[in-house]
Amino acid sequence: MAYISCPFCAMVCDDLSLPLHNRETTTPQFGCNKADQGFRSALQATRQTPLIDGEEASWEAAMKQAGSLLKGAKHPLFHGLAGDLLDSRAAIRMADHFGGSIDHLHGDAIARNLRIYQQSGWQISSMGEVRNRADLVILIGTAPEQLYPRLREKMLEGSERLHGDVPPTIRELGDDCLDLLSIVRARLAGKPVQQDIADSETLIGQINAASYPVFVIAPLPEQRAELIVRTCVGLVRDLNETRRSALLMLGAGDGDTTAQLSATWHNGFGIRTCHAKGYPEQDLQMQAGDRLLQSGEADLLVWFSSLRCDPPPAVAQPTIVFGHPAMSFTDKPPALFLPVAVPGVHRRGYLHRADGLRLVPLPALRESPLPDSGALCDQLISQEPRRC
Ligand code: SF4
Repeated sequence: MAYISCPFCAMVCDDLSLPLHNRETTTPQFGCNKADQGFRSALQATRQTPLIDGEEASWEAAMKQAGSLLKGAKHPLFHGLAGDLLDSRAAIRMADHFGGSIDHLHGDAIARNLRIYQQSGWQISSMGEVRNRADLVILIGTAPEQLYPRLREKMLEGSERLHGDVPPTIRELGDDCLDLLSIVRARLAGKPVQQDIADSETLIGQINAASYPVFVIAPLPEQRAELIVRTCVGLVRDLNETRRSALLMLGAGDGDTTAQLSATWHNGFGIRTCHAKGYPEQDLQMQAGDRLLQSGEADLLVWFSSLRCDPPPAVAQPTIVFGHPAMSFTDKPPALFLPVAVPGVHRRGYLHRADGLRLVPLPALRESPLPDSGALCDQLISQEPRRC
């Protein structure tokens, strides 16, 4: 039996098993639909040749074209970053060499959480601590069980807990819970509320009865997210005045935690950082990928997406894609498409788990002729002098 890690959601489960004689299978079954679909899509992908403007081209011609697009760009944007640690590092090296900016596909959520953290700080928990210690989990967000299919099995319902045998009480609030959370926070602080919600009494009772309530936050609709997260941060801070409580931000996956942590390690700030002046400069608003593209400040989009098959956004700028080999284009194809190895399937890799506390190794499932984005980026960097 071989153990495999799964890169297809923020949980990064490292306990999937595949009988050794099935290593060549293209239809793996792991008991998680999202994992099955992710592995199947990568294993069944056949594209191994690059595309220039949608037409098949040799690797030599494609790399020459990539070098020429990068050389001609005044401000390239290295974006998407839906990959593993090696993909993120490659994108950051490119931004540093060619004087561009970096952002992530889920940059809005990463930037919002970073802003809240920078302004007020927060008290967070880990997946292991929730599994082993929390006795009340208040689950907030949009369809968490679709995003993380094994959330209950791995974190919420495990009977083998280090500190007690009883799984935590789960209270699901969905994503439309700002009023309820605000009222609960006010009432717990002994403040008057203008209009109460019937449900607040029950939630207050559950929080008061718990020794360690944890607010687990999955992705939220953008228009509600900031206030909900800020309210939870405040609630947890209030509760910690007299006892113990914590937050756990699960993220959306697609390498979001990995991109932010590896960028922070390499440039000191994280995503939404510009490398054009020869030193890194972060601005969570001005360096937003969408803004740079819409304003025309970025004149080349370099999109990294080794984990997702979706094409990059349609933009006016020429686009180079380091992409999943099953990626297809129904609209205008990018100026250049370079199919790359999927981490954890065609090559080994590393991915940070949702809580950012563990870097999970991703063994390769099978040998593949597909190149990895890091090697391609190194080749491009060696072909052109450093910009700044
Ligand atoms: S829950 Fe997520 S990480 Fe775990 S097996 Fe399913 S898709 Fe993979």
